[in-house]
Order: sequence, then C-alpha cells, then structure tokens
Amino acid sequence: MRRTMTEQELLANFDDAIRLGHIFITYQPKINHSTGRMVGAEALMRWSHPENGMQYPSDFIPVLEKNDLIYRADLAVFENVCKFQRKCLDSGISTVPISVNMSRYDIYRKNYVEEIEKLRVQYDIPVKYLHVEVTETSAIGGMELVSGVLKQLHEYGYIVEMDDFGSGYSSLNVLKDLAVDVIKLDMRFLSGNIGGRGGTIISAIVQMAKWLGTPVIAEGVETMEQADYMKSIGCKYIQGYLYSKPVVEEEFMKKLQQLEHEPMTPALDLIKTMDAGKFWDPSSMETLIFNNFVGGAVIFSYQNGRAEILRVNKKYVREIGMNMLEQDIIDSDPLQGMDEHNRRIYFDTLDRAIASNDEETCETWRTVCSKTCGEDRICVRSFIRVIGKTDNQYLFYAMVQNITAEKTRFHDLYESERRFRFASEQANVYAWEVDIGTKDMRPCFRCMRDLNVPPVVHDYPEPLIENGLFPPDYAEMYRTWMNKLESGEVDNLDGIIPLTVGRIPFHVRYSLERDENGKPLKAYGSATLVVDDKKEEES
Ligand code: C2E
Ligand code: CA
Ligand code: CA
Repeated sequence: MRRTMTEQELLANFDDAIRLGHIFITYQPKINHSTGRMVGAEALMRWSHPENGMQYPSDFIPVLEKNDLIYRADLAVFENVCKFQRKCLDSGISTVPISVNMSRYDIYRKNYVEEIEKLRVQYDIPVKYLHVEVTETSAIGGMELVSGVLKQLHEYGYIVEMDDFGSGYSSLNVLKDLAVDVIKLDMRFLSGNIGGRGGTIISAIVQMAKWLGTPVIAEGVETMEQADYMKSIGCKYIQGYLYSKPVVEEEFMKKLQQLEHEPMTPALDLIKTMDAGKFWDPSSMETLIFNNFVGGAVIFSYQNGRAEILRVNKKYVREIGMNMLEQDIIDSDPLQGMDEHNRRIYFDTLDRAIASNDEETCETWRTVCSKTCGEDRICVRSFIRVIGKTDNQYLFYAMVQNITAEKTRFHDLYESERRFRFASEQANVYAWEVDIGTKDMRPCFRCMRDLNVPPVVHDYPEPLIENGLFPPDYAEMYRTWMNKLESGEVDNLDGIIPLTVGRIPFHVRYSLERDENGKPLKAYGSATLVVDDKKEEES
C-alpha cells in the first residue's frame, strides 16, 4: 500500500532513507529516434518507504529543498550513479553518459561542484560518463551564480544539460547567455497542439539550438506522433514513456546490454571571431549586419555531403529566392538544384574553406523553383567561410550574389570567343568583333593573351589608339575605317597596318554583318601577321 508521507514524517525518516538505501535511483534512457540507439540516461530519485511505499519526487523534493536537505539527497544520487558506472566499467558492460539532476538549491552551496568532483575521482569515473542537469529556473536566483557554477562544471569537463527548457522563465536569452551543452525541451510544457503556437515555439527553439550548435533532447515524449514531429524539425533525441519509463537498476543494466549505443552529436565549437549566438539577438550588431549590410547571406550546416540551411537574410531571399518565402528556402535542400558537376565545385569550395579557414569563392549554377516564378536556372557566386565546426559537422557562412545576367553575357562572349579562337588558331590570325551599336569590341583569346587586350574594349578603337596598339600615324585612317563600317558604306575592308610599338605589319581585314533591314550590326576583324618571305626562308 502506498501513502503519501507528511513533511514531519519525511524529515524524521530522511537519515535512515539515505543510510538504508530507501532513497534510490531509477534510470530513464535517452534515445536517438532516428537510429533507435541509446545516447544516455537520466538518474531519477525515488524514495521507497518500508511501510508507506513509493514516494515520488513531487512529494518529497520540495520538502527536502525547503529544509536544506536536498544537497545530501543529490550527492547520494551522484554517488550511486558513480557506483553504477564503476560496476559497468569493471564488468566490461558498455555504458552511456548518465545525467544527474542538480537542484537550484545545490547551486547556492559553495562547494557542491567540488563535492561531486571528489566523488567522481574517488570512483575513478571518466567525466564523459557523468552529465549534470541544471534546471532553467536556477537562473531566477541570478545569472551570475549559475554562470559561475556552469563554468566550474565545464572546467572539470562535465557536459551540462539545461533541464525543462521552455517552462517559462527562460527565454531564448537565457539560452544565449548560459553556456549549456545540451537543451532538454519538455513536451509537457507545450500545450498539446503541435501544429499551433506550441509547435511554432518548439521549432523556433530547435532552430536556434541548431544555430548555437546545441543538441536538443525532447523530454516527456509519449507518442510516436510527437517523436516523429520532433525529428522532422531536427530534434532526434527523445526521452519519454514512448521508449521507456524510468526503470530500476537491474532492468536498466539489461537495456544497456540489449540496445546499441551512440554518442550525442557534440555541440559545434563556434569560432570566436564570429559569435554565431549573437545573430539571434535582434539588437546585436551581428544581426544588424546580417540583415542590413552584407547583401545576400546564408548560414548552413554541412555534414557528410548534406547541407541544411539554418538562416537566411532578407537580401538572400531577394537575391536568389525568386519570391520564395523565407521558410520555404530554409526548408528546401540547398543542393537539390545543383547537378553533379556544380555540386562537386561547391563541395570542393567547402573543403577549401575548411582547409584554409578563410573565405573561398565559387560560381555554381543551380535550378531554382518557386511557386511564383516557376523554374529557372541561376548562377550564384558564393563567398564561403567556416564559422563553426566539430569532428565532422561544419557551420558555414556564405555571402551570395546572383550573377546570372553577368554570366550569361560572359557565356555568350565565351562562346563567340571560342569560335574566334578556333578560327584564329586554324588560320594563325588574331580576330575580334565590334558591335556597331555600342562600339564594344570583343577580342579573341589570342588578342587577349598576346596583345594584352581586355575582354571588352568600350568606345573602340580609342583605348587601343591611346595605349599604342595602333600607332598614332595610323589612328586617323583607322577611325575612318570604323566610320565606314558604322555607316554601312562598305561591306569589306582590308589593308596593312603596323601594330604595337614594334610596328609589326599585320594584314587587317573587316567584314560587316547586317541585320534583316540591312543596318550594320557587327564588324568582324582579323589580323594576320605579314610574314617576311625572305626571313621565312632563312630560318
Ligand atoms: P525532471 O528532471 O524533468 O525529470 C523528468 C520527469 O518526467 C521524471 O519525473 C520522469 O519520470 C518524467 N517522465 C519521463 N518521461 C515521461 C513521459 O513520457 N510522460 C510523463 N508524463 N512523464 C515523464 P519524476 O521522476 O517524477 O521527477 C520529477 C522531477 O523531480 C524531475 O523532473 C526533477 O526535477 C526532480 N528530480 C528527480 N530526481 C531528482 C534528483 O535526483 N535530484 C533533484 N534535485 N531533483 C530530482
Ligand atoms: Ca532532469
Ligand atoms: Ca525535465
């Protein structure tokens, strides 16, 4: 029979309960819902009184806290977890990290962290097997105190999990300001309906956690629907009745042996120069810069060939989003529209950015599809740098420019250049074309290489007269040629012109292209070296 004990009874029995082991632990596994493997467990305190039966934490923990006894109970739990881990290690049973709850009253005790550390050393447990859960409400007593305790725990190497995140006090700010390694999000704090406001809050938290590189565990998960939903928004770690109720030691030992284990993905170690966390603070300089000053920018994580967009700014949406909604972009697979070739270019650039730890650039084509604009192919120039990393997961920051228009022009140029190049190499000539309307001259590859002509010469031929490619005494004659072509007076021109300061004689020819109305469109020029026959024979 079970009877809830009164405060007096609890206090009177407390010493015995500790000494005789009436206060003991149950263990609840934490599972990766994607793989079914165990990533850890939480130690939960129970009190089984010989006559009054099981007492639950909600009945006795507040009493212990009120009477300044909780630290003794918590240290007893910690010691028992150490004993358990020792047993596993000694008998060769592969174990997982087990987290122990730290009451907010423990935080007020000066030596608490030292005391648990003493126990850990005494039982010689590697620190990775012991996590500490600190509840979010601890921050009520003042951030400095909690920060100090977290710092101390971190110095000893403990992983700290933020318990009951979302229970109310905290806001995203607490998360930002406290250096926790894992976030525990309690499903029960979210009013039932996953699709509604609760869902929006959860996904905002999960997204922010991703951004901070902090793994999230969903607690109190009772249904497959909840677990699947959490997984769908990027939270795959689950603790709850769906997988297992808290179980006694022997049973947990069996689960340890039955289930495979895996480590929780460690938090990203954000590079100091770019404090990613600050992007979440709407008033931070980083956010201001991200949104207003940097042009199109995106933040994405990358692991084993998979990229996931975490954040884009408004200019990114404008630049390459083609009227898509920000959320649609975040949900989309950023590599989807890239073919094999472009993907390889992109991945190579990511690898380069990882290796150099500096900004790397690439230009890639991708097909984008939006509800408003349909499908289109665009070329994006990306400036990419790493802002966070772990062993195999990276966080990248990329600035993007949509250079499709520029690229299309260049592409045309490249195409015509290829024709020129082909022609000139066959015939050993230099070739170029002049757009009659714009007076833009586009040279062939050999002109660019041998004569140092830029890809486009505006206001042709003036710049080339100025730089001496056309000697001054031939300038007027050459201008007259251009006028004749422009006016359509002639269809062909040819003559010998000495070029460059060396006055090397070239046979220059022009032929004019006209549109359907006979209006001059383009003039195609070529120059062939005038070979001195005698010299040719000598050599
Ligand atoms: P908590 O740290 O948030 O622990 C999770 C609570 O949720 C546990 O309740 C667990 O049994 C329960 N739970 C787990 N999965 C589900 C589920 O799917 N559905 C529902 N409805 N509940 C689920 P428990 O063991 O009663 O502990 C209650 C609280 O008491 C804990 O909340 C924790 O704040 C505190 N507590 C437990 N053990 C300790 C301890 O050793 N030291 C301290 N200081 N506090 C402890
Ligand atoms: Ca807990
Ligand atoms: Ca909790």
